Formats: sequence, C-alpha cells, structure tokens
Amino acid sequence: MPHVVTQACCADASCVYACPVNCIHPTPDEPDFLTSEMLYIDPATCVDCGACVSACPVGAIVPGNRIEPAHERYPAINADHYSDAATPAVRFPVDPGLRLPLAPISKPKPMASPGGEPVRVAIVGSGPSAMYAADELLRYPNVSVTIHERLDKPFGLARYGVAPDHLSTRKVMALFDEIARDDRLDILLGSELGRDITLDELQRDNHAVIYAGGAGTDRRLQVPGADLPGVASATEFVGWYNGHPDFADRRFDLSSRRVVIIGNGNVALDVARILATDPQRLAPTSISRTALEALRSSKVEEIVVAARRGPDGAAFTLPELIGLADGGVDVTLDPGALDAVNATAPTDPTAAAKLQLLAELAGRPRRTGPSIRLAFLRSPERFECDAAGMLDGVTFGINRLDSQRGGIEPTGQVETVAAGVVLTSIGYRGVEVPGLPFDPVRGVIPNKQGRVVTSAGPIPGLYVTGWIKRGPSGFIGTNKSDSAETVTRLREDLEAGRLVGPAKKSRRKRLSAH
Ligand code: NAP
Repeated sequence: MPHVVTQACCADASCVYACPVNCIHPTPDEPDFLTSEMLYIDPATCVDCGACVSACPVGAIVPGNRIEPAHERYPAINADHYSDAATPAVRFPVDPGLRLPLAPISKPKPMASPGGEPVRVAIVGSGPSAMYAADELLRYPNVSVTIHERLDKPFGLARYGVAPDHLSTRKVMALFDEIARDDRLDILLGSELGRDITLDELQRDNHAVIYAGGAGTDRRLQVPGADLPGVASATEFVGWYNGHPDFADRRFDLSSRRVVIIGNGNVALDVARILATDPQRLAPTSISRTALEALRSSKVEEIVVAARRGPDGAAFTLPELIGLADGGVDVTLDPGALDAVNATAPTDPTAAAKLQLLAELAGRPRRTGPSIRLAFLRSPERFECDAAGMLDGVTFGINRLDSQRGGIEPTGQVETVAAGVVLTSIGYRGVEVPGLPFDPVRGVIPNKQGRVVTSAGPIPGLYVTGWIKRGPSGFIGTNKSDSAETVTRLREDLEAGRLVGPAKKSRRKRLSAH
C-alpha cells in the first residue's frame, strides 16, 4: 500500500530527501512548493519503503493500510494531486527500479573561513526558522552557533503559535530539541536584542548574524471602532491560550452568545476551533490553565468566521478545513453561500476538494453544542458599541462575486452581526529592528535570498530568515528550505572572503538551559 501524507504536513520536505524514488511533490525546487497547501505522495510511484515516515518530524505520513478515520480523505487527496498531466511527477518521471538515492549523503566538509578559523554565527530568535538555520549551519563541523532568545522558553511559534490540540504539529519541537542537543549550539534564553545584547556586539563577536525574529505583531484592521473594548487580535488570543508570557494577563469576555472572527486563514480556523471545542478535550493538552478555565465557563454558542471573498477564495487550507469538518465540532455555512461559485468550479484538485467539502458541510444536519459559521463575502466596515461604549457587533459590507473580472465587488448593502468579542485575524506583521533596514509596506527586512540589503547593496555579515525575510506565509516546515537558502548565501560570502572574523573571543556562556 502506498504511503499517504495527512493533515499535520508541515512541508519541511525532509520526506522529499528521504524518498528513494522521488514520489513526493512539490519538492522545494519546484515552482509550486511555496504555494502548495501540503506535500503529496504519488501512489503510482511510492514503493512503500517507509523512509519518509522516519524523516517526517510531525508524524504526518502513514502507510495506506493504516489510515485512521480522521484521515480517510487523504489517500484520494494525495492521488488527486497526480491526476493532472502537468504535475511535477509526470513531468519528471523517475524509474522506480532505479531507486536513486535523493537524500544528501555527502560527507560534511568544513565551511571555508578567513584563515581557516572556526566559524561563529549568532542567530536572533529561536523559532522554526532559527532552528532550521542552526541545523543547516551545524552540518559543517567547524561552525558553532549561538541563539539569542528573549523569552525564557525556546522555539517561538512552534510553542506559542501552534494550537494546543494540534499534537502532531507540536511534535516538531522534538526535532528542535534534537538540534539543540548539539554541543556546538548554545541557546541563550532571556537574551533580548537591544536590551541584553546589541547588534554591534553580535557582529563583533561572530562571522555572521542571522536575524530570525519572525513577524512579531499582527496586521491592524483600520475601521472605526477598532479600539473598542472587546475587539482584539487573533494573535493575542492565540498567545493567551498557548501561555505566551506577553499575553498571559489578557482577559477575553466569553460571556456573550457570539464571537466574530475577521479573516478566514488557518489562524482564524485554529481560534474558532478552540472556542468551539469541548474544554474536556482540551484539558490534556498544553493549553494554558487560565484559558482552559475561561473556556469552561464560556457562554459562546456561535463563532462566525467572516471573510470578504467567496468560498472559492478562502484563505484556509484544505487540511485545516478537513480537521475542522471531521474534528467533532459543528460547522455551518450561510444558506446559498455556494450558489454563486458552482458555475465556475475550479480545475485545481485542492480548490475543488475545498468547495466539495464546503458543500458537504452546508448539507449537514445541525448538531448540538457551539457551532462555527463560515460567512463569506463580508467586508468589515465598522465595529458597533452599546450606550456604555462596549462592543456589541460588527457591520459588514456585503460583496458579490464579480463573474466578469473575477474577485469581488460591493453590493452597497450592509449587515450588522451582534457579538460580544471580535477577533481580527488578518495576518501577522514583521516589526522594525533598530539598526536594520525595514520595508514598512511588506513588514519585512529587505533582503536578497537572505542577505540583508540596502539601496547601497548587501550589508556584509547580516542575514535574515523566516517570516521577517519572506513575510508571514507558509507552514512551519517551509522555513527549512528558506533557512537553507540563507545559510547557502552566508557560506558563499565566507568562501568569497566577504566576511571578517570576530574581533575578539566572545564570552560563550549558557545563561540558562532550555
Ligand atoms: P492568512 O492566511 O494570510 O489569512 C489572512 C486572512 O485575513 C484572509 O482571509 C484575508 O482575506 C483576511 N484579510 C486580510 N486583510 C483584510 C482586511 N483588511 N479586511 C478583512 N479581511 C482581511 O493569515 P493567517 O491566518 O494569519 O496565517 C498566516 C500563515 O500561517 C499562513 O501561511 C497560514 O497557513 C499559516 N498557519 C498555518 C497553520 C496550520 O497549518 N495549521 C496554522 C496557523 C497558521 P483576503 O484573502 O481577502 O486577503
């Protein structure tokens, strides 16, 4: 039985390199890698060796004869990816009989450095992109790495962003623990750039500095009433339920009947699912005890996830929609929500499967317990308040699909949805770092393949990786190839003599163990 990639796929592509027959796509060097919602195993090419199972850091790959009920949609989803003659596996067929080893098995060589001295690299941040960068650097036997993490626990969004009930995805922290065990890696916890160490000091003490600070805040919705009590961001809510120290003191009033979430990306779905899930099921997870108690006394009956585009433009991915649909919570759609899109059904199998599942949800009988309503074609116009100045709803402009030009257009009609809490979930945003250039439009540090650049060209020895490099998109594993690219540029600069060594021996002390 061929193996199957399931919901937790983090797209770090370790499976791609482990696979001896090139049956997992898209690969990091294929054009659709960055936009793909997951990786897929070609059932016609898979030789059932299981190498990918061992390589996957989140346990997302299972043998086809051991599919659990929650994953029963995935054999077809994997196969459908290869039903189109234009898919990479068909374009680059590999003879399974050859069994070419794709995994990088070359013996690691030292990284070239000025005078052949040991190479020292500092990384700021300890989230997924930082850990993958450290892993890539430590493949070279003469490189040592110091990670500076401002919090007292490492691994950033892997710890504080992944939903507590996504147990498989959270397993990636075991991989990061493994990387952290390397003697040539120090993780300095409670070490904040600008407070405990300066950029100048890091540059002086290392051949190179990689900034991997992520996207530290959320995009703000600029509509009237956005500052009302009761309006918060999904980022804050996620930080709160995951026990992030910056958000541990937040309070969310869950005493009203309805919560509205604006935006329908995967973060919005995570938040909606946590609000709708029976707290008893969350109790054994890592959810913060404060959040668990608040959810236990929650009076919320409906969570509306409102998006400005139609069902065919939903930002959530198919695996996350499947997790919601098959995860035991009630999911509904507004009547007629799918009518306008049926005529223009997509040819892309993932988009088609998403619409098919939405249609299935629309036809399901209503269950008991809190429900999640997926609302489409709604653009937030303003937040409403009662006489006491407390939030009591959101007014949306109603859109329609523009069949001529594609996309959406306003109808001029509005609808007000009553709600006691509104969570804006319209994406993360990078924060400017003193001493580094910043692109305020994209919220990233300007860079060329990871080299930090200004209009005068690259700044020697300064690099970026992760969301602060490419913007807040992709999955945890997307950072593996992203960080590999940054480390490759760093290595090229060392080899070309563009980086000078540390000015003096720096103090390498471990402030605290992780
Ligand atoms: P996202 O996927 O970019 O979704 C943002 C949502 O906000 C979209 O629905 C977008 O609508 C909407 N939006 C943006 N500006 C808006 C505005 N002015 N008014 C109304 N709506 C607006 O962002 P995200 O959910 O924060 O996720 C960030 C990344 O993390 C994504 O790559 C996601 O896949 C990843 N992630 C993955 C998982 C997982 O795999 N389990 C979990 C969490 C996050 P438009 O489409 O109309 O712009």
